[in-house]
Amino acid sequence: MNKKHLLLIAFVGSLLCSISCAKKTEKKEAVDEIEKIITGMTLEEKVGQMTNLTLATIANEVDSTVVVDTAKLHDVILKHHVGSIQNVLTHAYTLEEWHSIIEPIQKLTLEKTRHKIPFLYCIDAVHGANYVYGATLFPHNIGLAATRNRELVKQAGEITAIQTRAAGIRYNFAPVLDVGRNQQWSRFGETFGEDTYLVTEMGLASIKGFEGNDVSNPLHVAACMKHFIGYSAPQNGKDRAPAYIPEIVLREHFLPSFKAAVDQGTQTLMVNSAEINGTPVHASKYLLTDVLRTELGYKGVVITDWLDILKLHERHQVAESHKEAVFLCVSAGIDMCIVPFDFSFTDDLIALVKEGRISEERINESVRRILQLKKDLGLFEHPYLEKEATAAFSKPLYSQTALQLARESVTLLKNKNGLLPLSDKQKVLVTGPYADALAELHGAWSYSWQGNIEKLYPDSLNTLAEVFKKDAPATSIFDLSAWERTNTWNKKSLINATRASDVIVVCAGEAAYAETPGNIPDLAFDSSQVAIIKELAKTGKPVVLILLEGRPRIIREIEPYCSAILMAYWPGSQGAQAIYDVIYGNYNPSGKLPFTYPRYSGTLITYDHKLLDEAVEIVEPYQYYYEFNPQYQFGHGLSYTTFEYSPVKIHADTLTGNDSLKISVTVTNTGKIDGQEVVELYSRDLFASVTPSVKRLRRFEKINLTAGESKTVDFVLTKRDLAFINQDLKPITEPGTFEILISNQKATFYCK
Ligand code: BGC
Repeated sequence: MNKKHLLLIAFVGSLLCSISCAKKTEKKEAVDEIEKIITGMTLEEKVGQMTNLTLATIANEVDSTVVVDTAKLHDVILKHHVGSIQNVLTHAYTLEEWHSIIEPIQKLTLEKTRHKIPFLYCIDAVHGANYVYGATLFPHNIGLAATRNRELVKQAGEITAIQTRAAGIRYNFAPVLDVGRNQQWSRFGETFGEDTYLVTEMGLASIKGFEGNDVSNPLHVAACMKHFIGYSAPQNGKDRAPAYIPEIVLREHFLPSFKAAVDQGTQTLMVNSAEINGTPVHASKYLLTDVLRTELGYKGVVITDWLDILKLHERHQVAESHKEAVFLCVSAGIDMCIVPFDFSFTDDLIALVKEGRISEERINESVRRILQLKKDLGLFEHPYLEKEATAAFSKPLYSQTALQLARESVTLLKNKNGLLPLSDKQKVLVTGPYADALAELHGAWSYSWQGNIEKLYPDSLNTLAEVFKKDAPATSIFDLSAWERTNTWNKKSLINATRASDVIVVCAGEAAYAETPGNIPDLAFDSSQVAIIKELAKTGKPVVLILLEGRPRIIREIEPYCSAILMAYWPGSQGAQAIYDVIYGNYNPSGKLPFTYPRYSGTLITYDHKLLDEAVEIVEPYQYYYEFNPQYQFGHGLSYTTFEYSPVKIHADTLTGNDSLKISVTVTNTGKIDGQEVVELYSRDLFASVTPSVKRLRRFEKINLTAGESKTVDFVLTKRDLAFINQDLKPITEPGTFEILISNQKATFYCK
């Protein structure tokens, strides 16, 4: 190394050091400022910061337009010192409407409150800024997970952040980090699927997109990892129903996504509304303080879910009164409460402090975290609307990103005799209950909470029928009149319409829903849709089934009647175009199921179940003791080309200590067209002190391969990546042989 190099290194070193010193000083100044504010605050002002209300407490809807009620606003902000408000009255607003709501609240707060602590608006922007007219709506998380494309998921997060912040909103209640272990759950479509690693990877990408490197940046927002913890495994499959999750399972499958998000520096967390093993999570000091704060080292804000303190009293009955419920929750570790309609939380918490049951220092802890969040969001320095965000609100790139995500999410489940892609010479009948609907393309949280109000969808968006009309006018035939949204159908007219067609495309699935209204008794497919698909198949024309659904409805009965099946999930604003592009081969499908598609409603099982299939026993008079026979496997998804995998190369026989192990595989596109392939690496622990899963996803990479092209993909694993939770509830990698499985290839190594 010459002198010049040394000087350069010294210069860069001192520059980095001075940047980090400046950051430390800034941080210290912010902490001091917050402490100074807290010292001057009354108890009422502090508790107001911990109170989160819904927009209905300060506004009314007049002829579908939101109007802020000044008297109510003064009561909320000036009399009760409330520091944050959230969401919409009934539906989405334009940017201008949002500004007319938020700017006056901020102005009043800054001009008329003693400490001028800026006000914070919060929203559920769960698949794009779904409550902002003009924003881009992406596929829901379940579809994003099917893309296996971290970079695009991050970009969707970035766009969502810009379009949310442009409305004047800096706090987003997303993403869902719950692992979808129960396919019947009505929020399954909001999850990134059933696998812990996949949820973690996609969740981190999404948070990175929302938050960037600094949430004070006017193009980013604070994310909220939700819903801590175990919400997604209700015993009866219904939303907010009790779950029974042994701690060994909780730590194996449900904790890692939250731990990873905490490690990435995520600022806020929302609590699971339901109960686990008899304890509502909102009342669990063990989960909210011992595990979350002490063990994971989480320093951010913990927010309750909607009405959940009241529910400890009224629903879970672990508190004799609302006041006792407040005591339980605050003692357990919550910082902010989505009350959201009144001042019951505020009044009871003030009383509890005055009675000495909760210390003022405990209140200070929460206020400190909330003020820090506001500080981090740049609200103290730039409390009003930021030009950078509004200027970036609308760009053609955004709908391109939505289109690409929707295309990459579409998962080709079946393609008998290569029916797809269709040629533009084939006459196509487009039908089905959702062929001319926008609601079912978008699903939950789209312009309204349930997403099911068709008239709220912008005219600029296209249904599947509209895309066919636009892009294939000469060959498309429609019979949509035969369908009512009530699922009744006119058989005669529909069968008549099939006569002129070569192929029938049926767009079916589930009507849009969100949360508890989406509860169902089982996963059965709608019976009238089953009947019509069978009738259509009787014509002898091949049927292409497009599934618009947030969870896997059972298709065992109709699968044999369909030549091709496309799982489109809830693909969002560009969903129709994406489906069309896949049907005609403008895009070669690459989506992979992020869950196991069950064959029977009564047999819901995940791919990473225990006991090898070889363990099947037939003992008369019993049937199969154990059988894994889903409709489609986790990771399933066809392409219009073919890929071949080389043998797996493991670069060492043994993995020791803190070493890492390189694993390589070469993939070749052996077909005639270009395509994208998801290379998934699974590991199998052959013997362990806790029965091992048959396999676990450890890595995935999505690659582009032109026809005939080969690429080598390298993965690196350490012992930590192979760990499981043992009977002492500790992560451990025990010595022994491991198998690596990539596509149809296998190889083993020894772990010391
Ligand atoms: C949902 C949360 C959501 C909150 C605020 C609740 O009903 O469970 O996911 O963030 O409402 O809208």
